[in-house]
Amino acid sequence: AKEKSCCSYVIFDRQEHPKDQSHIAIEPELINAIRRNEFELFYQPRIDIASGNIIGAEGLIRWRHPEKGLIYPDAFIPTAERTGLIVPIGYWVIQQAGQDLQRIAASGLSIERLSVNLSFRQFQDSYLCRTIQRLINKYTIDTSILEFELTESALFNNEVHVQEGIEELHTLGINFSLDDFGTGYSSFSLLQKLPISSLKIDRSFVSGVMTNTDDREIVKALIRLAHSLNKEIIAEGVETKQQLNFLSRYGCHQAQGYLYSKPIPYEEFVYLLEHGYQL
Ligand code: C2E
Ligand code: CA
Ligand code: CA
Ligand code: CA
Repeated sequence: AKEKSCCSYVIFDRQEHPKDQSHIAIEPELINAIRRNEFELFYQPRIDIASGNIIGAEGLIRWRHPEKGLIYPDAFIPTAERTGLIVPIGYWVIQQAGQDLQRIAASGLSIERLSVNLSFRQFQDSYLCRTIQRLINKYTIDTSILEFELTESALFNNEVHVQEGIEELHTLGINFSLDDFGTGYSSFSLLQKLPISSLKIDRSFVSGVMTNTDDREIVKALIRLAHSLNKEIIAEGVETKQQLNFLSRYGCHQAQGYLYSKPIPYEEFVYLLEHGYQL
């Protein structure tokens, strides 16, 4: 009965988007993709700005479609969320991350952080905590390495008990980060109260840091806020050396972006871990 929870999913209320038909074609294909195991988890390195070392990675899903080739998450995650298929897909992501963490350890390598994205829809699954606990045991995951990334809109969503879910998962030792920070609205007192250890500055602000005064001031303010809340701060979408220097000057802790690496398959990530990268 326990195995079932991982693969069963709830169909959510379609009336929410009555005019949106985009799920019709893709949904049966997504169900097939789950059955045929057509997903892959790519990794984008996370770099400690001060030392320049790879401290870990963010896992990002891709769909290896038999005819259409590699499909990026923006093309199917929204449908997966709308239909509830994000629940089994989300478990696939966590088990893949667990398996890869085991392989990294077996190669004699180590990382401090491995994050994956969690959709607020996954908190609608009442088996969430139990299933994750089971995956942690199965792959002997060191939960201090595991991090779940959640967006502000997920966190402050009122229909789902996301905050209770976070508290429960935190008792397993899992870390949380706030994704796309700055794009939604955060309640700072809640940010302080919840077990969120890091904030990820959205790429849209980082990309404007050298050209747009507003973006520059926003990034500075977000870094300052993280410092005063005693949280780790990570910049995503870092593409240039100039952006990196700016972030470094204002005390941003970590960076992720094309400057270092695009999201890459597991084997390439492990190669980078072993050999370092060329800036
Ligand atoms: P995200 O979590 O904000 O992930 C960052 C996205 O920015 C990734 O796109 C990444 O490839 C891209 N990116 C990273 N560095 C750079 C850069 O320097 N420049 C530019 N232009 N882009 C950069 P990706 O992999 O296509 O993922 C898109 C979104 O799909 C993610 O945004 C996330 O919201 C969602 N997603 C990906 N994997 C999963 C998953 O396993 N579960 C869930 N629920 N959502 C996922
Ligand atoms: Ca993310
Ligand atoms: Ca993000
Ligand atoms: Ca984003």
